[in-house]
Amino acid sequence: MNQRIEYALASEFGPSSEIIDLKKFASEATALSHSVQNLQVDQVSIAQECSVADIQSSLTSVWNSPMLSAYLYRSHDIAIASLHGSTSRLAKTRKRSAVASELYKELEDVQRLRANLDSIPLASWKLMSDAALFTRPPRNADYNTLTAIKTSDTDMDAPSDGIDSQVLITFTSHFKVQWRSSVLSKSSQHILMASQTLGDLFEVMPCVSNECPEELLEHGKVVGYKETNGMHGSSGCVIVINGLAYGDGLNEEDYADKLIQHLKITKSTSAIKKARTTMHDTPLSSVSLQINVPYWLLHQGNCEHFIVIDQIRLKHSKDPVTGYPLTLYQAPASLDLCQACTRIPAVWSIVGDVRLEASPCLLCGPCWQSMGEPTNEDEEVLVLPLPKYKLW
Ligand SMILES: [Zn+2]
Ligand SMILES: [Zn+2]
Repeated sequence: MNQRIEYALASEFGPSSEIIDLKKFASEATALSHSVQNLQVDQVSIAQECSVADIQSSLTSVWNSPMLSAYLYRSHDIAIASLHGSTSRLAKTRKRSAVASELYKELEDVQRLRANLDSIPLASWKLMSDAALFTRPPRNADYNTLTAIKTSDTDMDAPSDGIDSQVLITFTSHFKVQWRSSVLSKSSQHILMASQTLGDLFEVMPCVSNECPEELLEHGKVVGYKETNGMHGSSGCVIVINGLAYGDGLNEEDYADKLIQHLKITKSTSAIKKARTTMHDTPLSSVSLQINVPYWLLHQGNCEHFIVIDQIRLKHSKDPVTGYPLTLYQAPASLDLCQACTRIPAVWSIVGDVRLEASPCLLCGPCWQSMGEPTNEDEEVLVLPLPKYKLW
């Protein structure tokens, strides 16, 4: 796909839903689910109707055969490479598969499978050239660093007996990518109960800007950084929903006040007003929300996010009882490369070394080691470890 179209599609939201009154939704949906239960829907017959047991055995027998599944993978790769017209990839794939194809030709099982696939009458079964418009290579946001749903500490749970707690809202947070401010990328996805607050949503959102170490100042000069092991508390935040700015309420003058001040100074024409409540006193059920509408969030000075509601639904008997907000997805952090060799991810941030082109300068282990001792005479060189990331 054309990269410009691809980025535009990834950075657009909508179409938006109507405004949803969560309290009304909760009572109506609960009443409806009770009446559905009363109908005693024959679940067994629905399960039978939707069953795929008839094709399961033939599918698994193909996937369990190393030769057949290898043949399918390889022919799929070739089809995708030719769709995208990526000649180098195609040439490589062709070269590699030339030997294998000869081998496959001789195999009776592979021949039979190919004949079966070729005889499928469904016209959309084979990849058409138009499909190239809708396929693309995987990008960072397609990978999830979580291997299971991540729950929160139970003390973050709101009272779970009210009707609001039966409504679950799925939020996705997006951020602006470093290299172009008009391009957005998905950073995390969470499920909250409607009885939880905007503050709970902010607290659960991971963000790399929360990992910047705090500066230690002496006479207005940076002399060091506080030791942190990865994440530390955020220093404040504002969320704007329906023209109302919900501040953190941490200080007398919070992020919402600062935003309003900034809009006044810059003579902005936007009609944003400060909300009466802070984000920690604002349950989601008290806000009029819309699906697929980006809500703006600002924290850590200039780190912006767009929060979008993907889904609003009733809690199901198979949903977790406690541990909300849940985290379903977290994008891998994109690691900065070493500024010296530009090949491997940096692990150190060097501040104030005159031998380097920038301060701070990000370096990998071997590059920093090969530089030897710093030569500064009057200035102290600070060497800070960068945060480490792992799969959950
Ligand atoms: Zn952020
Ligand atoms: Zn390096």
